[in-house]
Amino acid sequence: MECKFWGTRGSIAVPGKDTTVYGGNTTCLEITLESGRKVIIDAGTGIRALGEHLLAQEKRVDILLLLTHIHWDHVLGVLFFRPIFEPASKISIDGFPTCMRGLTSIFATKRGDGFFPVKFEDLKAQIQYLDTLRHGPMDVDGVIIDTVPLHHPQGGYGFRFREGKKSLVFITDNELTEDVWKGRHPDDYVEFCKDVDILIHDAQFTPEEVGERRGWGHSDYGAALELAQKAYVKRLILFHHDPSRTDQKLASIEAKCRDLAAGNNSQIEVVAAREGTQFPL
Ligand SMILES: [Zn+2]
Ligand SMILES: [Zn+2]
Repeated sequence: MECKFWGTRGSIAVPGKDTTVYGGNTTCLEITLESGRKVIIDAGTGIRALGEHLLAQEKRVDILLLLTHIHWDHVLGVLFFRPIFEPASKISIDGFPTCMRGLTSIFATKRGDGFFPVKFEDLKAQIQYLDTLRHGPMDVDGVIIDTVPLHHPQGGYGFRFREGKKSLVFITDNELTEDVWKGRHPDDYVEFCKDVDILIHDAQFTPEEVGERRGWGHSDYGAALELAQKAYVKRLILFHHDPSRTDQKLASIEAKCRDLAAGNNSQIEVVAAREGTQFPL
């Protein structure tokens, strides 16, 4: 299994000279399974370049697209994901139960004066909604994918991939708190992330900022680290970078989080997600 970042940013895309290292595109990950099958998580603006990459590699794009939720920073890139306009493409979709409604309504041409010129029904790709994950785990070429509900406005799913002895968890747009939330105990996340090789977690805020941003549905890097340490995760990747962070600020956050881990005598490896980087498992 291998994981590649095509978009690492939260809320809104922020291209420019200050975001060339960690990236300016919003959420999109490419997970390549041992079998070669590609699973894409989220369709933020990063999915545009991924679409070009896939079409350059293969004549026929065949992917599974998983959506964490349908906030705009996680879906808007689909409008410019070129494989979705190609008749040869096969796109299977699953994820949070609202995902199809979200995707189709982006293409709703009757909205307002029309926000996009193409209707969902007119897309050329073979698009199939699997509707599996809300009923339980799914098996993709022997890889087990299961979900955890997010603590986030309107909800969402985090995903865990288990392939043989290797495992990866992706949880973005999730507010880690010490309180029980809708019957969900903070330790449920520890259980979900137990012993995984890679945990990619929302770390939009700093510990100093989070106090006045409670209820926004995001975590600070201290809380993400605490979860990773409690769960004995090997590598923590900080994700969903706030649009206000320059490369310099993100490097400083990465360093502070590493210091915090070292201060706890932890062996955990901490990095901040960078667009274009990949992690083999
Ligand atoms: Zn988001
Ligand atoms: Zn969100």
